[in-house]
Amino acid sequence: MISKLIASAREYLPTFNEERLTSAFDFARKAHSGQLRKNGAEYIIHPVKAAEILTTLQVDEDSLIACLLHDVPEDTEHTIEEIEGLFGENVAFLVNGITKLSKVHYRDMMEARQIESLKKLFIHCAEDPRVILIKLADRMHNMSTIDALPPEKRNRIAKETLEIYVPIANMLGIWELKNSLEDFCFKVLEPKQYAKIDALVLQSEIEQSMLVKRSISAAEELLAKAKVSFLRVEGRRKNHYGIYKKMKISRSSFHDIYDLVGLRIILDDVSTCYQILGILHQNFLPKLGRLKDYIALPKSNGYQSLHTTVFGIDGKITEFQIRTEDMHIENEYGIAAHYFYREAQKTKQKNIKKKLSKKYQWVKQILDLQRDVKSNKRFMRNLKLDIFKDRIFVFTPNGDVIDLPQGAIVIDFAYHIHSDVGMLAEFANINGQKKSLFSKLHNGDVIHVKISESAEGPQIKWLNAVQTNLARTRIREFLREKDKHELLVAGEDLFDSQLKYYDIQGSKALTKDQKMMLLEHFEVEDWENFLVAVGHGEIDIPSIVFALFADRYNTNRSRGENRSPGDDELALCIHVQDRVGLLGDIGNLVAELDINMLEMHTFPVEHSGEHKIKICIRFSDLAQYIKLLRSLNCMPEVIAVNRLETLEEVQTF
Ligand code: MN
Repeated sequence: MISKLIASAREYLPTFNEERLTSAFDFARKAHSGQLRKNGAEYIIHPVKAAEILTTLQVDEDSLIACLLHDVPEDTEHTIEEIEGLFGENVAFLVNGITKLSKVHYRDMMEARQIESLKKLFIHCAEDPRVILIKLADRMHNMSTIDALPPEKRNRIAKETLEIYVPIANMLGIWELKNSLEDFCFKVLEPKQYAKIDALVLQSEIEQSMLVKRSISAAEELLAKAKVSFLRVEGRRKNHYGIYKKMKISRSSFHDIYDLVGLRIILDDVSTCYQILGILHQNFLPKLGRLKDYIALPKSNGYQSLHTTVFGIDGKITEFQIRTEDMHIENEYGIAAHYFYREAQKTKQKNIKKKLSKKYQWVKQILDLQRDVKSNKRFMRNLKLDIFKDRIFVFTPNGDVIDLPQGAIVIDFAYHIHSDVGMLAEFANINGQKKSLFSKLHNGDVIHVKISESAEGPQIKWLNAVQTNLARTRIREFLREKDKHELLVAGEDLFDSQLKYYDIQGSKALTKDQKMMLLEHFEVEDWENFLVAVGHGEIDIPSIVFALFADRYNTNRSRGENRSPGDDELALCIHVQDRVGLLGDIGNLVAELDINMLEMHTFPVEHSGEHKIKICIRFSDLAQYIKLLRSLNCMPEVIAVNRLETLEEVQTF
């Protein structure tokens, strides 16, 4: 059952340990024995087929073994520890990564499950991309046997694959896998359209392949005549879904798209690519505006190649891709190429690692997202917006590459360098020209952000302009902190200025117990946040005053102290600038509030035209008393109102 797998592995893994693979297979087969797939096949066929898919990506031995074992901990009684004992730490780590991913499959809340699995997927990918490759191969084989599932489940899995796994394969640059996954999904989700295109492909396939063959030999002849060395010329095929998408987007007919001849010329060195381009253009009329130099300016995912379209044999439109073998491997196998293909070239390894860490900046971004965004829904949205959008590559003055989503502006770039650069950014030099912080960036731009301590700093309008989640998060954090500080100051001002009117001399006059009481009463965790809430208006001054007075009132009562003339009686000293009729006005105010005035005496303050008025009052409603304090304090003649706290104070006044 694994002879094919062994043969494929041996082809690219010369030092491959066949015994180890066979024992993993035996272990997995025993573990899964008695289990059947939905289509009635023996279960072990699934991991074997998935591992065969992985050999097309030329993955290492540990990955193949992990793939064979990937469903063991999940579906059998054997544990990760057992696997670690038998096949080592590395294999166990990989299997564990995949097992964690498959566990989330069992939840039924569709969106939450998707998101959850995505998160885990990415975390593990960030730790080790091999986990993602095995997962993709697993999904690939499941898609190829999806017919065995009931229609509803089939649709759900196809949608999930198209929405999540296809973009991941695309992002990692594994086109072969991406194209096949796409076609499987297309077949499930749009069976009629798929059948139509399938029939059309079948119909014109023979004619088309004849044309491709003739075009290949014509190109080979031309190159041979010009004595250019090249490795091979090959035909390209579009997948069904690609044809369908292109038909829909460009509103063309099937034949407009399918009849194009797609050829690829692979060779050894870069300069020959341009030489071949010249030869083609000398012999075939090029189509205007179709020459693309992705060698000098790689696509955002790192893709490199020369593209041109010419009127080829019989005047048929022919698309050429010209690239080196190195570029080709990277273009076709993406992350797998970085990870495995070049492993053998030890001398280059250091370089690759460096390149890898730059190219996969997005892995770091995903981890950032995980930290910053708590909600799953937002995570999903951010992921789709931020990571899957087309990306551009721009450069720092030192030549470091930063990849950003298309449409990113200078501010995005600045925050990707460092959050301090974002905060202090003033303007930028783009390719030597002075540009504003809001300038859109383009592929290949060299950007030097000028910072200044006196820069205006992040503002709300920045939030709408930036394209990256990283910049948005940092700006929001900054604004929140700034806001918080402003609210804190406002709250303190409000507290101090307003509480005066109630005979409370600001927040500093409060005792520790009073502060604790207020925090408890308004359910705020600390004094700073309390003042922020006051500044924000969430807690209003009258409620604070009421809470304070009610507390004092109750404390006095429960202590049984007789500090005031009576439980409901109080003495106040009102310090005023005297005027005619003032006493009458104060009397009226007291009466209007339904408070009994028991006593009123006035004492002139010598040589000042000021008076101190002592009043004794009795009230039944604390709120009325608080209103009285406020009203008195608001009278223009009143300088201060103080409560006479002790009996002694009252008597010796
Ligand atoms: Mn599986």
